[in-house]
Amino acid sequence: MAAGGATAAAGYVGRFAPSPTGPLHAGSLVAALASWLDARAHGGRWLVRIEDVDAPRCVAGAAETILQQLADCKLVPDENPVRQSQRSGFYQEALAQLVGQGRAYPCACSRKDIELALAAQGRSHGRHAELVYPGTCRAGLGGRAPRAWRLRVQPGMVVWQDRRLGPQRQDVQREVGDFVLKRADGLWAYQLAVVVDDAQQGITQIVRGEDLADNTARQILLQRALGLRTPGYLHTPLVLGLNGEKLSKQNGAHALPTYDPLLVLNRAARVLGLGEQAGPLAQALQAWQAQWRAAYNLPRD
Ligand code: GLU
Repeated sequence: MAAGGATAAAGYVGRFAPSPTGPLHAGSLVAALASWLDARAHGGRWLVRIEDVDAPRCVAGAAETILQQLADCKLVPDENPVRQSQRSGFYQEALAQLVGQGRAYPCACSRKDIELALAAQGRSHGRHAELVYPGTCRAGLGGRAPRAWRLRVQPGMVVWQDRRLGPQRQDVQREVGDFVLKRADGLWAYQLAVVVDDAQQGITQIVRGEDLADNTARQILLQRALGLRTPGYLHTPLVLGLNGEKLSKQNGAHALPTYDPLLVLNRAARVLGLGEQAGPLAQALQAWQAQWRAAYNLPRD
């Protein structure tokens, strides 16, 4: 076993898991390219999963556009992409397992209820900050109607290693609280869907954007509760928008002009610190291998 949980060569399965809320943009291509490069550098397989579990945020046709943009860049998955919208049965099974173990419980609290409970405990929070769930429904609903399902989280530090960011730690109980597995609107939460899918698809290395890094501790807790293996993690640099924040549709992310794949791949490769590439993927792959070879026992050319 190599450092950071990376398994060299055989057995590597990586993935790119876009939410189809719009076409691929410069930021999402960085995650796609990095996950592809890392899978190929390890002689592994690369899968694409369409994360359309949050249906109201999805845009019709966006999944097809993303797959076409990837294909324009010659980033072609080794299996037909799966869609989370067709996998609710698996999420239901996982929730049932957690309920059976006493790890998941129903919650009747609205956002307002949570704010009031926090205020009553003298715990304030930033206006847009995530609310730390104070555990109101842990001991039962008190006759109120269930809305969501939450994971019962024990106090304590979750420690994990990111291949780029180094050692990471989070006390999920203190910083997040018991988090949502199934939402009040009946939709499956990202945390549950992603953990179930990564395990079922046999993903060994998760390579994704740095904005997702702070979900990792929650996902590790869920893996442990479900008896699943924890993959390795590598969070890639973000592309920033004009306002200095993560590139998104709100701050100027444009659909990528993938009719010029060399241009867009070169830009993504530069964000990954791979320098200017003369030809698209072959050179980027060599540069990626050179960058990671020492640390991860990658095979020599
Ligand atoms: N679907 C998530 C997104 O597009 C990525 C999830 C993941 O890679 O874990 O932001």
